[in-house]
Amino acid sequence: MTPTVLFYCIIGILVFDFLLNEVLSFLNYTWYSKPIPAVLSDVYKQEEYEKSQAYKKERFKFGTLNSFISIVGILVFIFLDGFALVDQWCRSITNNETVVSLLFFGVLFMASDTLTTPLSYYSTFVIEEKYGFNKTTKKLFFLDKIKGWFMTLILGGGLLTVLILIYNWADSNFWWYAWIVIFIVSILLNMFYARLIVPIFNKQAPLEQGSLRDKISEYANQVGFELTKIFVIDGSKRSTKANAYFSGFGSEKRVTLYDTLIDQLTEEEIVAVLAHEVGHYKKKHILYNLLAGTLTTGFTLYLFSLVVDSDLMAQALGVSNSSFHIGLVAFFLLYSPISMVTSILMNILSRKFEYQADAYAVRTYKAAPLITGLKTLTKTSLSNLTPHPAVVWFQYSHPSLLQRITAMQKIN
Ligand SMILES: [Zn+2]
Repeated sequence: MTPTVLFYCIIGILVFDFLLNEVLSFLNYTWYSKPIPAVLSDVYKQEEYEKSQAYKKERFKFGTLNSFISIVGILVFIFLDGFALVDQWCRSITNNETVVSLLFFGVLFMASDTLTTPLSYYSTFVIEEKYGFNKTTKKLFFLDKIKGWFMTLILGGGLLTVLILIYNWADSNFWWYAWIVIFIVSILLNMFYARLIVPIFNKQAPLEQGSLRDKISEYANQVGFELTKIFVIDGSKRSTKANAYFSGFGSEKRVTLYDTLIDQLTEEEIVAVLAHEVGHYKKKHILYNLLAGTLTTGFTLYLFSLVVDSDLMAQALGVSNSSFHIGLVAFFLLYSPISMVTSILMNILSRKFEYQADAYAVRTYKAAPLITGLKTLTKTSLSNLTPHPAVVWFQYSHPSLLQRITAMQKIN
């Protein structure tokens, strides 16, 4: 294998990824106007359905433009030996290899952020605005951006520094140490996400005493699930879209409800949505996901350790000698077919878990409010009722609404 062959492998993989995504979203597009299945006929009123169709079409066009800009950007960058140029520039500033690597990723991050910020601005203030989802002000948008940079700098930069130091110190054994470090960091992040990260972006307060809290507690007691930490977050300051999630383990375990969820769903529907989440805990999905994620990380790091020192990979990107950062970039470009396979497998597993969590909610609570709750969430986010099966298979972490309702109805 020569650097040139490897170079064209990288180009081939990038183009293949791009084309596959385009084909999938086009297939989805051709299914937008499929007749609505009978079970879902009450999700939208005619006028709302037309609005959702228009929203999907606009999202489709915008998504295509987005992917097109990214692929052109990255191809131009690679053909102009961009990675080599950034590498040289960083080396002109310092001789310290660790600092060179950090600077290198810093430059790439800023470049990609500069490219994507106008797109995300357009998405928020033009598309989401037009369909009434956006609640973000321009001030909040840029404030979020700046906070995001600091987070990336501290968390991303910090983790990267540790990994580079380990790499310089442990040589070929480094993947294993790196694996342990990443594992610990991800556990800590999940554990303290609500305490440390959320307050940077949102206000949260315990759910007030009242009938909703009573209903949730009653359900939690009935299934023997410890749930005293119930928080409400001001999601409405950015978007009308609603959500709820669990985070943390043990004593840090808590559920967070968006204020938009409380506005849009009835109390029974909220309890049903939480019953689904409790199902994920009871069926040990959180543990399995953690295990699967950890194994994937270990596998990825091991493969990376095999090739990081290869001069061939560096030369494919126009750099004469290997280094941590060039090795990492080349690796991720080449790794994408493998990560596509692991992501498909993870999606298959995740959809299986979603059915199980739905079934748990139906058995321990009720089917009807979960079904109407999911329908309302679908409606208020103008979600797709008729996704193409290939898209569901490749990209959906959840089964389609139709699949979920059909499965729930079979339980009774
Ligand atoms: Zn779920």
